[in-house]
Amino acid sequence: MREKIRIAIDGPSGAGKSTIAKAVARELGIDYVDTGAMYRAIGLKMTSRGMAMEESEALQKMLDETDIDFRSGDVILDGQVVSDRIRTPEISMAASACSALAMVRRKLVELQQKMGREKSIIMDGRDICEVVLPDAELKYYLTASAEERARRRTAELIAKGEKVNFDQVLADIEMRDYNDSHRAVTPLRKAADAEEIDSTSMTIDEVVGYICSRARAARA
Ligand code: C5P
Repeated sequence: MREKIRIAIDGPSGAGKSTIAKAVARELGIDYVDTGAMYRAIGLKMTSRGMAMEESEALQKMLDETDIDFRSGDVILDGQVVSDRIRTPEISMAASACSALAMVRRKLVELQQKMGREKSIIMDGRDICEVVLPDAELKYYLTASAEERARRRTAELIAKGEKVNFDQVLADIEMRDYNDSHRAVTPLRKAADAEEIDSTSMTIDEVVGYICSRARAARA
């Protein structure tokens, strides 16, 4: 049996990447790295310090002093658990904005590649197949219609007790899709060697089952 397996998943916001990647990780007994959470952590740090995107020097200094890690499913920013604070609509936008900065991407890609070097992992994001883990054994582009993604995100936020409006969630998703696919630095797109999975009419379990079966075959 092959010792190590790396699974890369890219796709737009709300396609179910993290739910699916988490379930696959649990089933295969491998680590999960949520790279979106890392951009969110930087977005949170910039927002809480009131930093503007143009302050290149201060930003670089801040990045040099930033540490992001995962512990028992929690996101740790500079030693503090920030798992809940990074999941607000405000920080979603801040993450999307700061992810367009080359210096932010450089810092996070380096950290992500380090995490993927030694062990079996599943990592999800926007640039995993082409930039972070170009030699991953399995590569997927997971998508779903914008309306379906907005429905799922609205239900998720309501379940957390947040007041949300479907039209606003859909508008946010469309705006983030646009930002993510039009930025100059590594825009979101399907890698040529990634397999596309459209989950609009699939259940989470179906997608998880499919990826796990491929992973078991690749490991055998
Ligand atoms: O996946 P999630 O919605 O948590 O990601 C938040 C934001 O981080 C995305 O809108 C995207 O702009 C950015 N991101 C990225 N590259 C990644 C992961 C996330 O640019 N690998």
